[in-house]
Amino acid sequence: MVAEEFFDCQQCGYCCQGETTVSLDRQDQERLSAHLGLPFAEVKRLYLRITGNTVQMKTVDGHCIFYDNGCTIHPGKPWRCRQWPLHPSMIDDPANFAVITGSCPGFKAGLSHEEFRRKMKNAS
Ligand code: SF4
Ligand code: SF4
Repeated sequence: MVAEEFFDCQQCGYCCQGETTVSLDRQDQERLSAHLGLPFAEVKRLYLRITGNTVQMKTVDGHCIFYDNGCTIHPGKPWRCRQWPLHPSMIDDPANFAVITGSCPGFKAGLSHEEFRRKMKNAS
């Protein structure tokens, strides 16, 4: 996989911190429910925060409720968590590339936007 050339997750947990989490779409909700072996109503009660149409995971002590020295629900986690930190917007948006690579220590030191862009485009 091309990402291995410039990315190696350091398991620092930074991307699971904060007072909000990624949003879950319908498939994420079904996957989570199946992974936990619980009816969705129970998953919702125990683990989710729903604001209008936005479904997110609850946070505890400033991190995602499923974080405990790493993600505790790997096979059941939302697609945005699976995708992170290789967000497609980074390819054409240098500012977003700078924000994401600046917050995630898994990227190779000194990786330039041009190099990232070239590798990602070659891989697609
Ligand atoms: S911030 Fe980056 S290095 Fe840290 S856990 Fe998340 S993906 Fe891995
Ligand atoms: S589901 Fe897992 S990877 Fe996603 S924010 Fe929560 S702990 Fe982190």
